[in-house]
Amino acid sequence: PIEIVGLTGGIGSGKTAAANHFAALGIPVVDTDLIAHQLTGPGGAAMPAIAASFGADLVSASGALDRARMRALVFADTSCRRKLESVLHPLIHAESMRQLAVARGPYAMLVVPLLFETSAYLTLVRRSLLVDCPEEVQLARVQARSGLSADAVRAIMAAQMTRAQRLALADDVIDNGGTLAALQLQVEAKHQYYLANLAHGQ
Ligand code: ATP
Repeated sequence: PIEIVGLTGGIGSGKTAAANHFAALGIPVVDTDLIAHQLTGPGGAAMPAIAASFGADLVSASGALDRARMRALVFADTSCRRKLESVLHPLIHAESMRQLAVARGPYAMLVVPLLFETSAYLTLVRRSLLVDCPEEVQLARVQARSGLSADAVRAIMAAQMTRAQRLALADDVIDNGGTLAALQLQVEAKHQYYLANLAHGQ
């Protein structure tokens, strides 16, 4: 079977930017965030269970999850958060497994924001690859992208593992404190390493 590299990092660290470059190099990418988004999009496979668990007012006119309402609900109530996770996580995992089973390439990338916290994914991966950057850079990039206040971004970062904890757990690290070009060069170096060490004859 194909070897899997788990790609992780804090919010706004550059996981998507790194994954996009692996994809450009021909590596199949399975992105759990993207899968979660699709499952809760219009007509998504999670929507019947979400409507059953939370009621029809969490479903927008298009048949997608009303993300703003759900965010407010799970933010205010941890039992709601757990209920949502119990609906979504098995579906995300099953779809990830399905995509990995059909992935073809020298190795595959599995993008999981909370890789080190989630044994169901950690046990699948042969190596973990952390996209790392200084917290102030992370903060600035997330703010620029989302328009959230610095305090709101700091609150999200505070709820995640610390940078030092992630660095201690990762097998491999990409430094995304610099330019996108610098990120891409490091992706290419890791790609060569994985080709040499993970790829079976195809
Ligand atoms: P999330 O956890 O929110 O899904 P992520 O880890 O996937 O985020 P990206 O979406 O790749 O992170 O990057 C966050 C933002 O920072 C994006 O707007 C992206 O374009 C930008 N960005 C990423 N890397 C760099 C870089 N090296 N230089 C400048 N901007 C960057």
